[in-house]
Amino acid sequence: MSKPLDLDDLAEYDSDDEVGNNEQGGDKKPKGVVKDTHTSRQASGFREFLLKSELLRAIADCGFEHPSTVQVECIPRAILGTDVICQAKSGMGKTAVFVLSLLQVLEPGDEAKVTALVLCHTRELAYQIRHEFDRFRKYLPAIKADVVYGGVPMAEHRTMLKERTPHVLIGTPGRLLALLEEKTLSLRDVKHFVLDECDKMLESMDMRQDVQRIFKETPHEKQVMMFSATLSEDVRPVCKRFMHNPLEIYINDGAKLTLHGLQQHYLDLIESAKNRKLVDLLDALEFNQVVVFVKSISRADMLNKLLQECNFPSITIHSRMKQAERIEVYRKFKEFGARIMVSTDLFGRGVDFERVNVVFNYDMPEDSDTYLHRVGRAGRFGTKGLAISFVTTEEDKKVLQEIQERFVVDIKTLPDSIDPSTYMTS
Ligand code: ADP
Repeated sequence: MSKPLDLDDLAEYDSDDEVGNNEQGGDKKPKGVVKDTHTSRQASGFREFLLKSELLRAIADCGFEHPSTVQVECIPRAILGTDVICQAKSGMGKTAVFVLSLLQVLEPGDEAKVTALVLCHTRELAYQIRHEFDRFRKYLPAIKADVVYGGVPMAEHRTMLKERTPHVLIGTPGRLLALLEEKTLSLRDVKHFVLDECDKMLESMDMRQDVQRIFKETPHEKQVMMFSATLSEDVRPVCKRFMHNPLEIYINDGAKLTLHGLQQHYLDLIESAKNRKLVDLLDALEFNQVVVFVKSISRADMLNKLLQECNFPSITIHSRMKQAERIEVYRKFKEFGARIMVSTDLFGRGVDFERVNVVFNYDMPEDSDTYLHRVGRAGRFGTKGLAISFVTTEEDKKVLQEIQERFVVDIKTLPDSIDPSTYMTS
């Protein structure tokens, strides 16, 4: 295995390739500033992408009628092998961009090799992405996809890689590195490298180093694609060091990141009033599914217990739970087996529960990015939703202020009653 890298080990970042420039080189037009809507007027349907008929059938089975703007912008170029760096709103179908384009270009040969690698930051997201591949490869059974992440015996992954080598491997960095180190996994044949939630994966030095070490194990010539709903000006050059002349899609204007179907409110209250208020609101509001975000594992356990004692159908998830249990909880919630999920930031990003229409910040997040990702768990793909944040400390107030300024949104105090039709998609 290669030693830990620093960024300088990677391809040089070309300053001419500045953010906002277009992938065709000299064009200085702001790049990829597109209105991000859940449906697009630019393409009447997925047929225009000239996808394999097997893929079109699977897309129809999933009930997708029209591609979203981000899909229209990215899929045709991704299929051609262009590197892609894409920031688009939460819930607008970024996953399908890389899943569909990879399934379109992968041609399984006689001998299975890991040809596409998808990295993400949590095990449940890895699991979800694998499921997305399974949905869309329904009529392409020769293309295999599988997933590796920590908390599962290494032996299972060794056997899978040896006996059922997938063409698409999805994984979290720690387990991928462990398999690389013991040489059970080879990335010599990788032609496509995808980073989902790329800012999260590259912002912290630890995870960035892991990503770099995995990246170094792949061939030089390959397609690189990266996605997130948040891509600060600081992290973009870091992303671009992994790429060559990428197609760049950024939503620069914070206002454009706001989900239009999502109503946002806050409540100013003291810490000891939070439980009572939450219970009252859960009684008063109509909802399909709710996620309640808290700031620590112990608070997640405590609040979940309290809600269960009050007879609410609540479950919880956090990183101290056993992996098998975590996946079970994820599945249960996805399949509507529980209506309320108390979560740490483990489920703050990436995970997709279509029926979630109310999000509570029982504890205010630490920054505006985290807020945007959390509330984006409601209002998926243009549906309606409601986000309610409990504001207690001066620090919470500052974060609320930052959110309002950055996303140009006026978050008002929660009214005494809200008409359910304003946050429930009929
Ligand atoms: P993102 O990664 O942008 O946050 P996801 O890829 O998780 O969003 O997609 C959000 C939801 O929208 C998923 O439930 C997905 O199945 C659905 N979806 C994606 N594309 C389409 C489409 N073109 N038509 C209908 N639903 C879609």
